Amino acid sequence: MATLDLQSISKSFGPAEVLTGIDLAIHDKEFVVFVGPSGCGKSTLLRIIAGLEAATQGRILIDGVDVSAAAPVDRGIAMVFQSYALYPHLSVFENIAFPLRVARLPEAEVKAKVGRAADILQLTDKLPLKPGQLSGGQRQRVAIGRSIVRNPKVFLFDEPLSNLDAALRGEMRVELSALQRQLDATMVYVTHDQIEAMTMAQRIVVLNKGRIEQFGTPMELYHHPATKFVATFIGQPNMNLLPATVTGLGPDGVTVEFHGGAQMTIPVDTSGARKGDRVDVGVRPENLRLGQGLTMRLRVLERLGGTAIAYGQMEDGLKLCAALPGDTAVHEGEEVALTFTPADAHVFDQTGRVMRRRQAPALAA
Ligand code: ADP
Ligand code: MG
Repeated sequence: MATLDLQSISKSFGPAEVLTGIDLAIHDKEFVVFVGPSGCGKSTLLRIIAGLEAATQGRILIDGVDVSAAAPVDRGIAMVFQSYALYPHLSVFENIAFPLRVARLPEAEVKAKVGRAADILQLTDKLPLKPGQLSGGQRQRVAIGRSIVRNPKVFLFDEPLSNLDAALRGEMRVELSALQRQLDATMVYVTHDQIEAMTMAQRIVVLNKGRIEQFGTPMELYHHPATKFVATFIGQPNMNLLPATVTGLGPDGVTVEFHGGAQMTIPVDTSGARKGDRVDVGVRPENLRLGQGLTMRLRVLERLGGTAIAYGQMEDGLKLCAALPGDTAVHEGEEVALTFTPADAHVFDQTGRVMRRRQAPALAA
């Protein structure tokens, strides 16, 4: 059992405030990913949870107990970093056993705990080897093994896969997700990679400049991004943004006019909007299809097989990206007309806040 609550956490280094008013309630056995661009404060927040860094303000509760003043070892937390920090002269067994040796556990108990961790991580036949004889992925698993044997309440991971090559990262992603289910543990995982966040998290915290932009399930963030930042950060290829002007407000939503004069009524909550407001209409590449509406000159076509990613530019210079069916008969250099369904569009005001969508696309049953 381990819930993790962050209450009004702020952190300054000298005059620079790097975290501002962070409030988060993480459930027991939840896999939460902190995602955001480099420098947004992810590692600092994780280090504050671990007790390696003191918050300037705010409280941290584990299972409802305030641990803000507790030493790292007393928090029941294990942290795994990007660098594995293994001891090269020790065997895999002794690397995993290290925290148990420090705690002076009896030999039989050490053997049992290391054996169980090795079993979970499929390292049993590697136990006699030295870290130098292992692949990068296996070394990362040894580092995880060392955190498992301590039986922590909460696991913290800081970009643990970023040193691995792409294929191995994909494999480890699946393994870590499976591990979390197997250990039934609360995990907080930091990454700058939105694909890792989308694929691994039960809920994602999107951080930007030391603030939480949004906290929600992957599909909530995908279908209902609260801000332009989240909308363009989550989803690949990135969401297109079309500048437009509000020309009407009604029961059906907001009517906007795009550059070039085309109009569209988008079913969103119009409260707060006014005629003449400048907005950005967001459309995901996978929501664009061939049809009259927007015209772009196709510059590059990437045929991935199942989909073809079309990158182009509209007459006013705006770049546009569409994910089309793989066999779509379009060619680089030609003009391509694209359209989309109004219900698939997102509308952002000038502060970057979304105008809430009327129809919530739900997960298919
Ligand atoms: P992320 O992990 O998201 O890339 P960090 O949490 O490492 O970001 O850093 C957030 C901000 O805090 C950055 O601007 C970084 O330069 C600053 N920072 C981090 N640690 C320190 C420190 N010990 N002293 C001063 N500034 C720091
Ligand atoms: Mg970091």
